Amino acid sequence: MEGLLWLAFTLVLSVLPSLLFLGLWRGLMALRDDELVQRLDAEHFPETTIAPRPTFLGKDIEAVLSIRGPRGGSECPNCGAQSASGVDYCEQCLGSVE
Ligand SMILES: [Zn+2]
Repeated sequence: MEGLLWLAFTLVLSVLPSLLFLGLWRGLMALRDDELVQRLDAEHFPETTIAPRPTFLGKDIEAVLSIRGPRGGSECPNCGAQSASGVDYCEQCLGSVE
């Protein structure tokens, strides 16, 4: 008897939250108003806008990056790793680049 009670209790605890969630989901789907969403979308976003290209100090970012290059720096005298230009220390071995 006690085992049966425990089984029923466990079933209720495991099934009830799922049923409640499904009920909430179906209720929300029933409340959804697609026409309202489309109308508001058309009012506030009349045409899809394309994001502007990223810029750096007013110049196109890809042009800036191609000028500098991926690694425009020097080679580390300690470990030989390429480092970015304008740095004083190697990012690999932390030795002085100059
Ligand atoms: Zn180094």
